[in-house]
Amino acid sequence: MSIYPKNVAELMDLFPNEEACLEYLSIIRCPNGCQCVRCDSQNILKIGRGLYRCQVCKYDFSVIAGTLFQDTHKPLRLWFHAIWYVVSQKNGVSALGLQKALGLGSYSN
Ligand SMILES: [Zn+2]
Repeated sequence: MSIYPKNVAELMDLFPNEEACLEYLSIIRCPNGCQCVRCDSQNILKIGRGLYRCQVCKYDFSVIAGTLFQDTHKPLRLWFHAIWYVVSQKNGVSALGLQKALGLGSYSN
């Protein structure tokens, strides 16, 4: 996916749901097919939304394992929005500005 969204509306069109976010992460992390994080086998089966199973060692792993999204409780769409917001601002972003733009209750949520 080489299209860069020019605004929030285009961003939301590109990523209308969590499935689209997971698919995008799969494309970035596995451009030539996924590889097992345990045994390096490329004999991988997709078993769910962003979930894969190694056919050799039977290890299940997620496309977000080992990324900054690994332990998040927030939707990927919110993270993608936050990342887009930060990189699209010419003069930087304050934590308070980001909190307000995304409708977050506090910095820690
Ligand atoms: Zn494996």
